[in-house]
Amino acid sequence: MLISHYGIVFFTILMSHMEHNQSIIFVQFFSLIAVSCAIAWTLLACLLRIAPKASWCFAATNICTLIGIMLYTQRTEAINYLYWFVADMTILVGFTLVRWGSQHLFKQPLSYRFDLILLATTALLMLLVPPSLTYAVYLVIVMSITAATFITLSGIDNFRAVKKHLPLHYAALINVPFFTIGLLFIIRAVVLLLFPDELANISAADKLNSSLVMWSYIILLLLTNLVLFGNALTRLVYKVARLANKDQLTGLWNRHSLLNKLEEVDALWLRNGLAYSLMVLDLDHFKRINDTYGHLAGDMVLKNTADILQKSLRKIDFVCRYGGEEFLIILPLTNKKEAQIVAEKVQQKINENTVLWQKTHINTTLSIGYATCKTHLSIEQLLQLADDAMYLAKSKGRNTICSMDAMEDSMDSMEESNAAIITEQS
Ligand code: GH3
Ligand code: MG
Ligand code: MG
Repeated sequence: MLISHYGIVFFTILMSHMEHNQSIIFVQFFSLIAVSCAIAWTLLACLLRIAPKASWCFAATNICTLIGIMLYTQRTEAINYLYWFVADMTILVGFTLVRWGSQHLFKQPLSYRFDLILLATTALLMLLVPPSLTYAVYLVIVMSITAATFITLSGIDNFRAVKKHLPLHYAALINVPFFTIGLLFIIRAVVLLLFPDELANISAADKLNSSLVMWSYIILLLLTNLVLFGNALTRLVYKVARLANKDQLTGLWNRHSLLNKLEEVDALWLRNGLAYSLMVLDLDHFKRINDTYGHLAGDMVLKNTADILQKSLRKIDFVCRYGGEEFLIILPLTNKKEAQIVAEKVQQKINENTVLWQKTHINTTLSIGYATCKTHLSIEQLLQLADDAMYLAKSKGRNTICSMDAMEDSMDSMEESNAAIITEQS
């Protein structure tokens, strides 16, 4: 209550110092947008807990910009550190917060050092002259260059982060406003350098009277928030998609994501003849581990097995948690012979590995079955064959590798023995 009371008083005092109706309407409109956006970001941070650190930064960006603009409106011809130096620096801090927020949003390394050095250098450059209308051209140029640097760097950071998860053109498109804003600040600096007389028309030099400047600030604020909301949404969608496709315990792909990948490799096989293999792996006597050491130990073994599988395979291989203690691997560009080599490698790595659980070493083994694509086999049939091969490996005593061929052989021999029994009986 007290804060809102002082806010209204502060606002009224500011307004009473403004001369033009247009400026008053501008500040009211600008405040409305900035405060609404700040509230929206605060709600995202507090209530919905969507990227809280980033949302706090973006809320603060809106407040900094609002304070900066309010201070701009109070400029006179006199020297005044608050309305010149503090106002510019507050807006630049807002730009810095855009960059830090975006880095938090996409979990990128934070650039505090560089940004603080840039802010400090800008402050020093500004303090070289008395903050007044006499040196306004110089001050606006310094401010514009720093603002352009921050906003362009934010655009580059965002572009790099978004292009990891989404198509290149989308990553570029969503950050176009950032690059445009950066370019506009550079254009302003160049124009001022060439035509210093244009100062009043293209900056908040002496009061905020130019409608071009007023509209630019409103569009800039709207665009910045729009890009930031767009980026936050992109991150959210990516996170949801990731959660839907990944297994929480092991971090491997889950069964849900399997079919898409299978269809992809199968299409490549049918179109270009690029053979692939499927491998089903099941931990042997896993229930005993749970029963002896507890479920947490079992979970640790599952995570450890997933890590080994991922580390021993190529980047193009698709490792998925198929069931409780069962894994499925799609091996693109892998024929029968190569699949056998992969299975042996995985088996050896698992056999060599021990999991340390409360001072006890737990050893595990895997039963592995694999099948390689054949023209007359559907995806489902191939999956079934790999699964059956794994069960054959179980029946052969576990810690064993069986292929689809071995299974066909065993089925043939079963058929032969059945035939022999029938012949004997007849
Ligand atoms: P086999 O050698 O025949 O495969 O024997 P097994 O004990 O490995 O197989 P079984 O199907 O009898 O038991 C699988 C066990 O895996 C039972 C289940 O409680 C356990 N399990 C499934 N998912 C999880 C999990 O996420 N964490 C833990 N700790 N255990 C799990
Ligand atoms: Mg098992
Ligand atoms: Mg099993």
